[in-house]
Amino acid sequence: MKNYSIWQNSINNLKKKRIDENMVVDILIVGGGITGISTLVNLINSKYKTILIEKNKCGSGTTSRSTAKITYLQGDTYINIRKTLGNKIALEYLNSQVLAVNLLKDLIIKNKIDCDLEKVDAYLFTLEEENLEKLEEEYKFFKDNNLEIEKITDVMFDKNVKMALKIKDSYVFNPIKYINYWVDKYRDYIYENSKLEGFRKVNGYYECIVNGKIIKTKYLVMASHYPYFLIPLGLPFKNYIETSYIGVKKSTNKKSSAISIDKPCISIRYYNNNLIYLNNSLKSANIKDINKNFDYFKNNFDYIWSNNDLITNDYLPFIGGIEDNLFLATGYNTWGMTNGVLAGYIIKDLILEKQNKYEELFNPTRGLNLHKLGRVFTDLYSNIKAFTKSNKNNVNNKSVINKTIKGKKVLIYKDNNKEYIVLNRCPHLKCGIVFNETERVWECLCHGSRFTLDGKCINGPSNFDITFK
Ligand SMILES: Cc1cc2nc3c(=O)[nH]c(=O)nc-3n(C[C@H](O)[C@H](O)[C@H](O)COP(=O)(O)OP(=O)(O)OC[C@H]3O[C@@H](n4cnc5c(N)ncnc54)[C@H](O)[C@@H]3O)c2cc1C
Repeated sequence: MKNYSIWQNSINNLKKKRIDENMVVDILIVGGGITGISTLVNLINSKYKTILIEKNKCGSGTTSRSTAKITYLQGDTYINIRKTLGNKIALEYLNSQVLAVNLLKDLIIKNKIDCDLEKVDAYLFTLEEENLEKLEEEYKFFKDNNLEIEKITDVMFDKNVKMALKIKDSYVFNPIKYINYWVDKYRDYIYENSKLEGFRKVNGYYECIVNGKIIKTKYLVMASHYPYFLIPLGLPFKNYIETSYIGVKKSTNKKSSAISIDKPCISIRYYNNNLIYLNNSLKSANIKDINKNFDYFKNNFDYIWSNNDLITNDYLPFIGGIEDNLFLATGYNTWGMTNGVLAGYIIKDLILEKQNKYEELFNPTRGLNLHKLGRVFTDLYSNIKAFTKSNKNNVNNKSVINKTIKGKKVLIYKDNNKEYIVLNRCPHLKCGIVFNETERVWECLCHGSRFTLDGKCINGPSNFDITFK
């Protein structure tokens, strides 16, 4: 069994440039996932000199661990938005997702990108009697707004389905093959193994420290998933991190994808005679035993992995400017294939000073959603609980030893003959670290940072390592 995502086999190994000298550019994009690449694709032919930096390999972040459905049938998102922000906003969001599905599909077809794009029927379903009403509401929302949707009961993938909704114009693809196409095409503008370490504003320009060198840029686009330094924007109060568990096993392909509105959530799609199955999504801060969450996949599955995404307080992403010429795109509520593409399209317009009708809807500086204030406190409570628990020296795994060396709290993991020692503090907000034995990574459950066995940061919000020297 492989303890990484099925897409990770596709991450290309071409040697790319890395930042090793000072540079002056017009636009610097930070992050080579679906968001950063989409932004580059949109801006590369503008009058501005644009480059993209990626601290690891392009596509190796959240994008490589996604289920990669391209759809506007997104769980119970619309009814959640409608309930708190009204039909107009919910419809605007739906229209934005329909647009994004088309933008992405057209780009793939127009450029003949070999990324296994497949048109599928998308289903939204429930296994629970008590969720039928919710599903009816979703149906009504689509119908009220004149969108094609079918109500069905004979869904082939699970005999226990109580009811399902079906739309036709959805797609699935291999997100890394998609990213590889652009990385290859624009390789002169892409720098891998190049990490943004910090930045400051000087005379209207951003001076960014990357691999110890300075990149001076007029526009800075943070496409790094969870931008660690944006605490002043109140980001941790406007979202929480959700972790989902995924397995892949052999199965004949079906031209369909599906997601339930139940808890635990189930999500299904197919790829090359494999079933990609997501069986649970949890608020990261509430996870009790990280390794137990993989139990479901212990038999018959060829790949297993987990992935994190930001769930925003009002179910709308954060895309846009946060101060002069500084842009942000994150908070996709697990729908980043559409929203990442949309981010490229919106940020391009903002930089080129064109109007974009979604600028206001996704404005990242919008306030907290007052209808959801209760959730802000619940999320805060979970995070405080996770922080306190993680700092109580409780080790989640018997192969991990907790020690203090040279006055520093460390965790030691022994693997055959090798010993790995890491600091037991997430550099982000000082939570304790737990060991994810299945994927063999260290994790911070407060906000989802991940580190390799020897402590190198793989995923933010932390931008720093937990290596012990
Ligand atoms: C379980 C799960 C399933 C999902 N399934 C779907 C789906 O079916 N359909 C869908 O639409 N969405 C899905 N999503 C959501 C989607 O995967 C994400 O929203 C999307 O991949 C985020 O892309 P990104 O480019 O913003 O972030 P990432 O892919 O994480 O890219 C950010 C990049 O920035 C780099 N970086 C970070 N810090 C720095 C730095 N300081 N300097 C340089 N580089 C840096 C990282 O290395 C990374 O490569 C799913 C999410 C989850 C959790």
